[in-house]
Amino acid sequence: MPAVQILQKYWGYDSFREPQLDIINAVVAKNDVIAVLPTGSGKSVIYQVAGLMLEGITLVISPLIALIEDQVNTLNNLGIKSIALTGGLSFDELARLLDNTAFGKTKFLFISPERLQNDYVQRRLSNMPISLITIDEAHCISEWGHDFRPSYLKLSILKNLLPETPIISLTATAKQRVIGDIEAYLSLQKPKIFKQSVFRNNISYQINDTEDKIGLLATLLKPDETAIVYVRTRKRTYQMADLLMRRGFLTAFFHGGMTLQDKQKSLQDWLDNKVRIMFATTAFGMGINKADVRKVVHLDLPESLENYVQESGRAGRDGKMSEAVILLSDYDITFYKNTSLKNIPSLEDVYKVYKSLYNHFYIAEGEGIDVMQSMDFMHFCNRFSLDMYKTLNVLQMLESEGFIEVNQGRRFFAKIQIIASPAMTRNYVAHKRLGYKVVDFLARNYTDILNLSVKIKTRILAKQLDMPRKELLDVLLALQKRNLIDYQPEGEQFSILFLLNRDENTFKYKSKNLQKRILHKKHQVLQVLAYVENDSICRAQFLADYFEEKAADNCGICDICQIANFQENSTDVYDKILTMLTANCMSKKVIQQQFKTDISPILDKLMAQQKITFVDLKYCKIDN
Ligand SMILES: [Zn+2]
Repeated sequence: MPAVQILQKYWGYDSFREPQLDIINAVVAKNDVIAVLPTGSGKSVIYQVAGLMLEGITLVISPLIALIEDQVNTLNNLGIKSIALTGGLSFDELARLLDNTAFGKTKFLFISPERLQNDYVQRRLSNMPISLITIDEAHCISEWGHDFRPSYLKLSILKNLLPETPIISLTATAKQRVIGDIEAYLSLQKPKIFKQSVFRNNISYQINDTEDKIGLLATLLKPDETAIVYVRTRKRTYQMADLLMRRGFLTAFFHGGMTLQDKQKSLQDWLDNKVRIMFATTAFGMGINKADVRKVVHLDLPESLENYVQESGRAGRDGKMSEAVILLSDYDITFYKNTSLKNIPSLEDVYKVYKSLYNHFYIAEGEGIDVMQSMDFMHFCNRFSLDMYKTLNVLQMLESEGFIEVNQGRRFFAKIQIIASPAMTRNYVAHKRLGYKVVDFLARNYTDILNLSVKIKTRILAKQLDMPRKELLDVLLALQKRNLIDYQPEGEQFSILFLLNRDENTFKYKSKNLQKRILHKKHQVLQVLAYVENDSICRAQFLADYFEEKAADNCGICDICQIANFQENSTDVYDKILTMLTANCMSKKVIQQQFKTDISPILDKLMAQQKITFVDLKYCKIDN
């Protein structure tokens, strides 16, 4: 089937965007390809359409489990059979999934770079009809990229395993050193390189200083225009959505803690224009592709400029003029310095979490590889006196360095299995040792509990035993410590798969990379501050510079350029407008008659500075 028909059939679009089709053609003609495209420009459609045009399986290497799961769900929902090899699979499960891939009608096989290290997986892959290899987030292969993953270096084995299969590498990073690394490490054969600027010239970047964000937001947004408003916390998504709804906007919200159904409903309402303004955390992103987003507003500072470019880049996909606005108060800067900067762990912090993780599961030096355990995150932090936010950052770093794989989720049941022998269990109860009542009750009431993990609600178990729940949870932990039971608590669960043995030397060996990550994180945070505090360099230039892209000229449409343009013509327009408005309120048309150049940006700026206001279709000066 031709590419366009596939696009129509599965995605419902009539045509590709530049340069999707050129890239697909290059891939289908069996060229190695490096494609540098801005995030959200439909990178996944490229390899998915190409994969569907080719006979056989497309192997996709992707760094993040969340990303993989998202893609696999999307594809399966489209009726395209896809399988993911992620998380702690037993050998049997792994073999079964690989059988399904080889003998079923699987089109896409997703795999993490760590999993590819497995000899068995390699052997199986080399015997499969794999017609295309996709490396997603290919910049992870380079130390110069923003998210270096050592496990990506080992992807060089792909050309040995599957020498005939073309490789397409996708990334949003244009840095030349990164592209060089991708080509070298993957042993690409004369790759065709496609490069698109990370920036679109129809987005006007702006920063508005204000101490009344809600007020300003209500004047920036238009009821019949699509917009995304990013906030920092889950709570703020629904609080703000509610506030703006009261002001007459059709709003929805979206964050990572919602159920899948709620997320889908929220997203669908927004896609169908039943609501126009989406309040979201950074979780709102993957796979979101709405062309007519006119404004992306950040009510709180973004985590990094990488995030900012991705999030603001959701504006103006249709090519029409759009705005990316950050609303900034003095407090934001202080808060950002106090949280984001302070939550960056030191190497000692990383080491402490590393040690605590192995200690938490009683894993000794030289052991731990392939062990998978789940833990209650809060409990873990409390137990080892760890700061939660810092620890989250550390877990991410340890995952990026290939120490562990982390899966996050909520479990509504505890899982308990008695792992001591029946004789030992009887003995324990007979001697009335700590928690014997709990053990006795479990053994009597759950027949399977000696052989397998049983799902239990601890709230109900506590009632049955007539003991406070808190006490029960402590007893269960103590029993686990004595190796009597295996216990996985309910709650905010992190499942941790250890990819390496506990080893001081390994940690030391990797500490150079960890240190680099720490410095890089600091750099990212400082650059966000530099971006918002800058008041002289064109915003698009600033971003282009950060991403090592050669920006042509000043964009001409960001707030800094607009003011500069204006000032070139007449430096006193500001004052003139303010003077005009001192006596009377005036409509824009009347004010504009006094000037040759467009005064809209100046009016916007004066609004943002709260020097003027808009009442009954007229601008009025605010007297302070
Ligand atoms: Zn500019």
